[in-house]
Amino acid sequence: MKCPFCGKDETQVVETRVSEDGDFIRRRRQCMACERRFTTYERPDVSLPAVVKKDGRRIDYDRTKLHASMKLALRKRPVSTEQIDSAVERIEEKLLSLGVREIPSTRIGELVMRELKKLDKVAYVRFASVYRSFEDVDEFKTLVDEVRR
Ligand SMILES: [Zn+2]
Repeated sequence: MKCPFCGKDETQVVETRVSEDGDFIRRRRQCMACERRFTTYERPDVSLPAVVKKDGRRIDYDRTKLHASMKLALRKRPVSTEQIDSAVERIEEKLLSLGVREIPSTRIGELVMRELKKLDKVAYVRFASVYRSFEDVDEFKTLVDEVRR
């Protein structure tokens, strides 16, 4: 890391401390050239990737929206809000684990479908039929058959 005083990039960590609540790590560094000390903080990067829409627009990931679209697909189905919550959490974990800055909305749609498939077959077909905007009836039929199996 570069020294903020003289700009040389030879610095040494002289002390490392975890904050009281464990939220970040604080490091004292010393510049090998000018010997001045400075502090850096290390925090987990938990920002979710931006969503790239089909038309190329970038929007912020919106948990509420994701939750709402799953809830809509699961309307009147025997699935609890808690189950939806944990499905959303699994999707977010997956998104974070990818470690990308941007993600196509279609990829998120696929993750939603995977979760719905596990939760409720009817909701899965509902979501998929809207989401995939089927080009023909046969494709829809294939999906329904797939679910029945
Ligand atoms: Zn320096």
